[in-house]
Order: sequence, then structure tokens, then C-alpha cells
Amino acid sequence: MPFTELQLELDERCARGLLRQRRTVSSPQTPELVVEGKPYLSFSSNDYLGLANHPDIISALQQGAAEYGVGAGAAHLVCGHFTPHEQLECELAAFAGKPAALLFSTGYMANLGVVQGLVGRGDTVFADKLNHASLNDAMLLSRATVQRYRHNDMAQLAVLLAQTGRGRKLICVDAVFSMDGDMAPLPELLALCVAHDAWLLVDDAHGFGVLGHQGRGSLSHFGLSSPRIIYMATLGKAAGVSGAFVAAEQAVIDTLINNAHSYVYTTASPPALACALRQSLQLIAEEDRRRAHLHQLIAQLRTGLHGLPWQLMPSDTAIQPLLVGDNQAALALSMALRARGIWVAAIRPPTVPAGTARLRITLSAAHTEDDVSRLLEALHELAR
Ligand code: PMP
Repeated sequence: MPFTELQLELDERCARGLLRQRRTVSSPQTPELVVEGKPYLSFSSNDYLGLANHPDIISALQQGAAEYGVGAGAAHLVCGHFTPHEQLECELAAFAGKPAALLFSTGYMANLGVVQGLVGRGDTVFADKLNHASLNDAMLLSRATVQRYRHNDMAQLAVLLAQTGRGRKLICVDAVFSMDGDMAPLPELLALCVAHDAWLLVDDAHGFGVLGHQGRGSLSHFGLSSPRIIYMATLGKAAGVSGAFVAAEQAVIDTLINNAHSYVYTTASPPALACALRQSLQLIAEEDRRRAHLHQLIAQLRTGLHGLPWQLMPSDTAIQPLLVGDNQAALALSMALRARGIWVAAIRPPTVPAGTARLRITLSAAHTEDDVSRLLEALHELAR
């Protein structure tokens, strides 16, 4: 049988505690999550502002579907670019403080599109070793030379930049690292870009909506603005819906519209999603109380996690990983929480480096202080 080899590989993964399996959810994405028929208190979603189940966004989606139907029916460049797509792009550009913006169907596709659309053979891409998988795949797709530097090691990056000769230079970085929760030193990165005439692609999947004035993201958090920065953020996390956008100079956006395969050769996302996202963007900008509450919960969690045998990683964001180390031990801890009605995913290699398996705890403005206390009590009990 041609599949015997595949099954052996899967069995081996399973024996090492590395088999990935899905679980079916039958509730909306809220902290009270119903998984395979059982209710859990969840600390695993990226719905950082608690918007994924917001009634105003749901009704915007419904109205959008009533007005524009369900499917876009074509790629943006053919006849699938609808009024709400156009309006949303204008609003996102203004919100990000950039001249123009472009919608993509997912963040994964946005990263593929930006890197492949802007650089190619003869160019060089520089990347933090802990960047998201979509940026890593994007670099391979682009056929540019790839230079990866140690996590947040600006001295090594400076050396690599200085050694690089002709061609375009693009530094790609997660603003908030998805499995660690810490941030990239964006001011230093921008300074290096200026010194070496490079561009900076900032993937703000986990900062958009959460950080900065009105949730404008990591650039606002650091007070940064430069035409060299190509800003990308996802819309399926804090924005609570789906999709992603890139905001940049008009020439960059026009180049992507012409060159980015993951933009050109794919059906546009449903226009009703853009209607929902316009409503979400308004809530992100207006409802500072969601961010204030989230930041209070982060402080409560960090204070309460002291004294546990697992290392709390340095993070001020909604991503608060607890480092366990061993794969099976991380899985066992996740299962023990599950037995207590709490859902926290264990993240294992290759998503994180070998020996650094962890519980990836994420907080949402939809959590209450009592929810966080319940998680803390369970962890302290398990540590005893
Ligand atoms: N970049 C980062 C840093 C991410 O964490 C993710 C999602 N895990 C993505 C990009 C991909 O975004 P999407 O889920 O919209 O494809």
C-alpha cells in the first residue's frame, strides 16, 4: 500500500507526542467554548478583544450578505472587487496611517503575496528566526536570498546587512511573536533599514487592535512612521472576523495588485466580510475599555503565575506562554487542565524550537477576572 509509509510516520509522530489533531467546536468563539459537546473555559483563541461574537458585527455581516450575496464570485482584478472592499481598504489605510491598503483573504496569503510580490532572485530577505511560518514560506516562494538572524539580535542583523551587496533588501519581522508574545525592537529595525537602504515588513497579526492609540497596532505603540515600513495585519484575531491587509505607499500597493500571486490568482473574500470588518474597525477604534480590561487581565495573570515550576516568558501582550520544555509534559499539563474544564493548547515543535514546548495562554477582553483566577487556581493546584 502506498500509504503504509505515511501511517508509519504518523505513528512515530504520535509516539513522540507530536501528532496534531483537530477538535470540533460547536459554540461561538467565546471563553465559554463547547468542544466535542463539553463546555470549557478557553484561553486559546486569538479573539483578543472579544469581537468574534459581537452582535453589531454579526448584523453587519447579515446585512452585507442580504445586499451583496454570499460569494464574491471572481478575483478582485476580474469583477470581484466590491464597494465594501474598497471602503474598507480606505478606512484601513487611514487607520494605519498609510497612503493605501490592500485586502487579502488571510494573513498567510498576505505574507506570501508581499514578499513574493516585492522581491525575487538577486534580492535579499532578512528574517528573525522566530518569525511566523507564513513569512518563512513567503521567503522560499520569492526565490530571494534568505538571511535569518537570531531572535531579536540586532547586532547580527547589522552584520548581515553590511555584508549584502546589490539588490533589494527586505527585513521581515513579527511585531509580536506569535508563540512567545514578546515584541520585535521596531525602532532599531527601522534605524537599520535607513542605514542600509532596506524595507521593513512588519507583521502585526497580534498587535493590531490590541496595542497603540485606539488599537492602531505596534507602529503606534512605538510612535513609528516611515515610507520604508510595509505594514501587514490580520483581521481574524483582534478584529474578530477573517482576512488581512497590507498598508503601504501607493507604489507598493500597486505593485502588489500587479505582482502578488496570492492576490491576483484567487477569489476575493465575500464582500459581506468586508461589511462586518468595517463595523469591527469602528468598535476597535472606539472601545478603549476593551483594551484597558485586557491589559488589566494580563497584569493579573502575570502576577498570579509567579511561583510556578514553569517559566513565565517575558511578554506584555495578550500572548502569555508558560514554558514547560518537554513535549509530553506540556501535553500532560494541557490535558490535566482540560480535565478541570479549562482549555489551553500545548504548542510543540516544529511550531516552537525543540525542548521549548509550552502552554500558549491567550487572554481576551471577553474574559473576566474570575476566569483568570480560575486558571491560576488550577495551575497552582497542578503544580502541587
Ligand atoms: N502572521 C502571524 C504572526 C500569525 O500569527 C498568523 C496566524 N497564526 C498569520 C500571520 C496568518 O494569519 P491568518 O491566520 O489570517 O492566515
